[in-house]
This record gives sequence, C-alpha cells and structure tokens, in this order.
Amino acid sequence: MGEWSEYFEDFPEENPANWVNGRFDPALRAQLNKEAFQQEVANAEVNELIAKAKQLRREKSLARKAKSLLVTEDCPQCGLTELNTYKLEDDFYLCECQDCGIYGAGPTQAEALESTAAALGEGLDWREEALD
Ligand SMILES: [Zn+2]
Repeated sequence: MGEWSEYFEDFPEENPANWVNGRFDPALRAQLNKEAFQQEVANAEVNELIAKAKQLRREKSLARKAKSLLVTEDCPQCGLTELNTYKLEDDFYLCECQDCGIYGAGPTQAEALESTAAALGEGLDWREEALD
C-alpha cells in the first residue's frame, strides 16, 4: 500500500483515482471527492434528524398510550393476555397485541376488537412503522 502511494506521488497520471470520465484531472477529482464527502455528511445529518424525530414520536405515542390504557385482554390471534385496548379519543379505540403485533381500531371498544379479530392471520404488526 505504502509503495503504491509513493509510486502515485511520482506518477500521478497513473493513479486511476486522479481521472474523471476518462480525463486526467486531479483537481476536479479532489473537488468531486470533497463534494461527495460533504454530501455524505449532509445525508448523515438528515438521517440523524429523522431518527430523532421518530424516537420523539415513539416516546409521545407511548406516553399517550400509557395514559389511555383501558384494558388488557386475551389476544384473538396468539391467545396471550397481551391485547391492550386504548381509548385515545371518545370515539377512537385502538387494540394492539404486545406479543404478536396484531391491531385494530374503531369508534367503540367492541368495534376495535372486531376490527382486530377481522385482521387475524394478515400478519399485521403495529410496531412496524411505514416511515422506516
Ligand atoms: Zn397477540
């Protein structure tokens, strides 16, 4: 590796990293590399912001659910007593199994349960986020 870099110092035109679209142009190559690096840094910053926003949303959602947990019942899919029903609004109930992930919602508790039972075997999992 060290031998190659010394060689390329003496013969920069033989270093493939100094070529751009078939033209020997170390300055342009350096500029492009710099821009690519800056783009990577910018992408990493955006990804970090998105991850933070998701985490914040997740925490808010958990806090809201913790306050509105109505009952924990037997799950119609996995049978475990892990089906949480939340009353998030007066006319919005949400069921989520903490084990298998099945879920359903409705304007009443009964309809939320019905919607959950109707989704049996569909492979739903409320923990899978669409934005990922
Ligand atoms: Zn379940």
